[in-house]
Amino acid sequence: MITRRVTPTVKIGDILMGSEHPVVVQSMTDVPTANVAATVSQIKELVDAGSELVRITVNDRAAMDAVLHIDRSLKNDGYDVPIAGDFHYNGHKLLKENIPAAKALAKYRINPGNTGKGSIKYDNFSTIINIAAELGKPVRIGINWGSLDQELFLSMMSENEKRKKPLEFKEVVYAAMVRSALENAAMAEKMGLSKDKIVLSVKMSDVIDMKNVYEILAEKCDYVLHLGLTEAGGSIQGVVASSAALSLLLQHGIGDTIRVSLTPEPGMKRDMEVRVCRSLLQSMGIRYFMPVVISCPGCGRTDSDAYIRLADDVRKYIGSRINEWKNLYSGIEKLQVAVMGCIVNGPGESKHADIGISLPGSSEAPVCPVYQDGKLMFNLSGNNIKDQFFNVLEEYIKMRFS
Ligand code: SF4
Repeated sequence: MITRRVTPTVKIGDILMGSEHPVVVQSMTDVPTANVAATVSQIKELVDAGSELVRITVNDRAAMDAVLHIDRSLKNDGYDVPIAGDFHYNGHKLLKENIPAAKALAKYRINPGNTGKGSIKYDNFSTIINIAAELGKPVRIGINWGSLDQELFLSMMSENEKRKKPLEFKEVVYAAMVRSALENAAMAEKMGLSKDKIVLSVKMSDVIDMKNVYEILAEKCDYVLHLGLTEAGGSIQGVVASSAALSLLLQHGIGDTIRVSLTPEPGMKRDMEVRVCRSLLQSMGIRYFMPVVISCPGCGRTDSDAYIRLADDVRKYIGSRINEWKNLYSGIEKLQVAVMGCIVNGPGESKHADIGISLPGSSEAPVCPVYQDGKLMFNLSGNNIKDQFFNVLEEYIKMRFS
């Protein structure tokens, strides 16, 4: 059982974030925001995959002008997802110049490392915070190692050099990131943005660095925290590194919203990052979205790929049926289905799942025992095991979840 940190509740659109509220899955578009049609289409793709909050880049006047059109188009099509605007360098100007668009955004993300230098930085930061406070919009103060406030960092490095026992370089980096987050949050509060309108993040690209810096931050404050491994890379590397980093923190109750930042591979759908978030939360027992198929990797005891094909077919079948099941059966997302390759672990895993089937390994009798709620129910045999099992699955779900 994971005990979450106690934080204020931040409301973003209809989403409640923090403390006991579900860890929120979020994502970000990667098409130019000024291209309304492309942005709307990608937001829909992300939402359809399960993203509960979507961030868009707002980098110039054209992007800011597009916000209202995007908002209108999404609402017309029944998509009520909160949209966060991602501002760097010129957020103060863009928000001030287009208040209707500022109102349409559900949240602003700003990076104190690039709101300006010296007194300009304070002025720009204050402009954004004042608009947010006036419009009642939450703000994420997002610190990134790659764009850490250099004035702050260099002054902390120089202080460190004067110590009798200087800290390691990484320790200064962690301290600077946490200080930047907390000082800017405190400044925002002084400017009138209440604590329940502030979300913090301190993103780094190394798994252990990210774990360390978030742990320090979580220890020092009760702000709502957005977790993400920045620049995680793509493909297996990005998925594994992000999952490792996020799970190390989520396991200790740290993190109220997550994003997995994956470099897309050619042809890869953007919604992969959403699917990874959901799968991670479900595999840790934090949230449940879809029935899972427990299947074995196979080994020398299998002399055909029947169990691989059946596991894949069952996953696809669940994907094709889940929307209807969700309308009919409460709790269906917690269903566990086992599809196993032989007698060694097949019966055991099948008994632990809600429903399971154990296919025969080499030299076993050509029958497939089916287990439900820990009990052997019957054996399937013949050439159409897949269809027989789908029927059994439907009957079981009707009996168990009606
Ligand atoms: S269940 Fe059987 S086939 Fe699957 S990995 Fe274990 S021993 Fe191999």
